[in-house]
Amino acid sequence: MLFISRSKARRHGILLDNPLDGDQRCFSCGGDCCRSFADVELTWDEYERLRKLGASRLQLSLTGPHRLLIDYGCEFLKSGRCSIYEARPEICRRFTCTD
Ligand code: SF4
Repeated sequence: MLFISRSKARRHGILLDNPLDGDQRCFSCGGDCCRSFADVELTWDEYERLRKLGASRLQLSLTGPHRLLIDYGCEFLKSGRCSIYEARPEICRRFTCTD
């Protein structure tokens, strides 16, 4: 998987088969991946959960996956940390950077 960061540097990551919680690398990068994607794909349940948590950058789709728009930084990224860590979407839970 390739994606472009805010600084336009190429970044690399993979989606794990299972979620990885408490990755110690996340304590030092300041949420680089949370500013590097254009969006995060959501299931309907995730869409509803984030809506109830106050998400303002949700994109509802009738034909494909719903999305949380995170270009230029996810709205849930606070002080370099995910403020909804326990409730974050599956994609966020499975993503790990490889840079
Ligand atoms: S929901 Fe949390 S982990 Fe996912 S992009 Fe936003 S801040 Fe990052």
